[in-house]
Amino acid sequence: IFDLPIPVGEDREVAEVLNAFRMMQTHLTMVQEARERLLADVMHELRTPITIIANQIESVQLGISELKDEQLTVLYDEMIRMGTVLSDLQQLSDAQAGVLKLNVSRVDLVELLVNMREIYQVDCKVRGITCTIDSELDSEWSLIDRRRVTQVLVNLMTNAMKFTPDGGRIEWHLRKNRDRGGGIQIAIRDQGLGIAAEHLPYLFERFYRVDHSRCRDTGGSGLGLAIVKEIVEQHGGSVFVKSIQGEGSTFGFTLPASRLE
Ligand code: ADP
Repeated sequence: IFDLPIPVGEDREVAEVLNAFRMMQTHLTMVQEARERLLADVMHELRTPITIIANQIESVQLGISELKDEQLTVLYDEMIRMGTVLSDLQQLSDAQAGVLKLNVSRVDLVELLVNMREIYQVDCKVRGITCTIDSELDSEWSLIDRRRVTQVLVNLMTNAMKFTPDGGRIEWHLRKNRDRGGGIQIAIRDQGLGIAAEHLPYLFERFYRVDHSRCRDTGGSGLGLAIVKEIVEQHGGSVFVKSIQGEGSTFGFTLPASRLE
């Protein structure tokens, strides 16, 4: 049926039905491809820790090495890494499934930022990092899913903390959008190592990492920004990133005017 020529003229209804079938087929193919890509990505992500764990155990079994503290630490770290990948995948799939069930309530975005900064107060203090909030408004009420938007802020803050050197500065900015139909823009600027321009378009894709070896050290799952994008888009907003290598990065998102009171 999908290869039949589309009739013209009096057979318009048939043509419409054929077109509808074709659109359904395209949609199904896309869903199927997305599923296959996800499976391949997850297998790729879990293969490295599994290989490391298997090799360590095998070399102990063969008597090549003993199970010392260092080996135990490696085993433990790799297990934790697998756990992080799985729990972040769970979050991502919850976020994707959440399109129909955003738990929306009236939330003050300025207060949300202040609360989020408090979560990181101790870490910032220990590392001498200054975290500021710069808002044009004292409060900005919006209709959002509080738990999910907090997740967005936490993921962005976690990255900023990872990349900002001790004694550095992290700035949150909250602005009214003057263009693009109004709404609001929230951004976080860090003093990290920045990101080369060629990576910027891919950062929000799942499991994308700029420097794989370095990021394995920082223990991320590579899913943090994919979760951010999913949640923001569910709220009708969009994500953005600006970065200059060696100077730092700004990650942010918009929320449409329809979310604001
Ligand atoms: P991860 O869990 O690995 O941090 P993310 O999806 O949160 O995964 O981020 C994807 C990649 O984007 C990171 O591995 C890192 O290379 C890069 N990245 C994210 N945030 C920053 C930042 N603030 N500064 C520099 N690089 C960043």
